[in-house]
Amino acid sequence: KNYIREDIIRLAKEWDVKFIRLQFTDILGMIKNVAITVGELERALDGEIMFDGSSIEGFTRIQESDMYLRPDYNTFSIFPWHPRKSSVARLICDVFTPDGKPFNGDPRSTLKKVLAEAEEMGYKMYAGPEPEFYLFKLDEEGRPTTTPNDQGGYFDLSPVDLGINTRRDIVLALEEMGFEVEASHHEVGPGQHEIDFKYADALRTADNIVTFKFVTKAIAKEHGYHATFMPKPIYGEAGSGMHIHISLFRDGKNAFYDPDDSLGLSEVAYYFIGGILKHARAITAITNPTINSYKRLVPGYEAPVYISWSAANRSALIRVPATRGAGSRIELRNPDPSCNPYLALAVILKAGLDGIRNKIEPGPQALDNIYDMTAEERKAAGIGSLPGSIMEAVEELSKDEVIKSALGEHIYEHFVEAKRIEWEIYRTQVHKWELDQYLKMY
Ligand code: GLN
Ligand code: MG
Ligand code: MG
Ligand code: MG
Repeated sequence: KNYIREDIIRLAKEWDVKFIRLQFTDILGMIKNVAITVGELERALDGEIMFDGSSIEGFTRIQESDMYLRPDYNTFSIFPWHPRKSSVARLICDVFTPDGKPFNGDPRSTLKKVLAEAEEMGYKMYAGPEPEFYLFKLDEEGRPTTTPNDQGGYFDLSPVDLGINTRRDIVLALEEMGFEVEASHHEVGPGQHEIDFKYADALRTADNIVTFKFVTKAIAKEHGYHATFMPKPIYGEAGSGMHIHISLFRDGKNAFYDPDDSLGLSEVAYYFIGGILKHARAITAITNPTINSYKRLVPGYEAPVYISWSAANRSALIRVPATRGAGSRIELRNPDPSCNPYLALAVILKAGLDGIRNKIEPGPQALDNIYDMTAEERKAAGIGSLPGSIMEAVEELSKDEVIKSALGEHIYEHFVEAKRIEWEIYRTQVHKWELDQYLKMY
């Protein structure tokens, strides 16, 4: 798609659009929108729609709160689950300040900055995500429970997999919105599902992830379920990850591919991996940003815990899938779907570029199953661990100037502040586990 202004105006008529939602995300990745009527479409296309940013998480102080929305024309699409007459469409926007500069607190602009940096080095980043989620039943009052919609397991087929109708309708809605869905299947956990859509350039993929989560929740609701991207909703069951497949292209060719290498990987790919491994503990604050994220990053559920890479086993943080040639890529396995995808891709790319610039070697790949190694064996092999909590990750982030510079001061400060508050509330709560453990004992 390469829409120009006139295309949008024409399509809005053709699709009988009455309302347009101008979307962007806050620092925590929450989708925000300003709804306008079609009468204001032309003003919106010219970036003249203003909103008050003062009450948006991590945006700005009251005195300077006027913000402008500049839509990305190529994101124009309709919400297929709304009536086809008087329909609702959306445009994803960048946030600008009144003096015409990209707003420092806008995650999408932040990703664009790092993409521009890559472009200066000659690289274009592509990414393909594998988002996982749970479908839960609602109670009588319509509130989400943690009762799964079915008892199916990995790749199960109906009738065990009751989610199949819901999942099919999610896929159909996504396809109507222009997604190319490559696979959808039941995951390991009861009521857990995965839908994989085609990779795209990093900016489009971040847009797609935001849209994907929104569509999934809307369609699940129509089926009487709650779709959650919470990373670990049930203790003892698999968590929901969002593996990200990444490649760099240079002059239209896959820059990660080298047919002469034993693994078919180029030097650029090795350095990119080296950069991610080096910054892994800091980027985890962004790719796994909730308290709950760290309940997923534990042994036993195919989620990574240790900082390593491998072409062979799936316990590594970075896996190199078997595809070679134009499809050469790496799979980063720690991100979860609670992350802000713009910021996640920005820090991942920044880490990889640092690896390329400074020729950071990734070290030997981990061939053994790292989970079977003792702590001493891991230490001897130089394999570190991902942070054990969001505060540990935030601490790492605060020490990593490279990753901080990708976020910029505004986002970094607001992110850390939001996480400190979240942590403080969590830390001082009395949790159910404590009552179960101590109430009778003491
Ligand atoms: N659910 C696993 C995770 O948390 C991934 C399972 C898989 O896709 N193999 O990352
Ligand atoms: Mg998968
Ligand atoms: Mg999966
Ligand atoms: Mg995967």
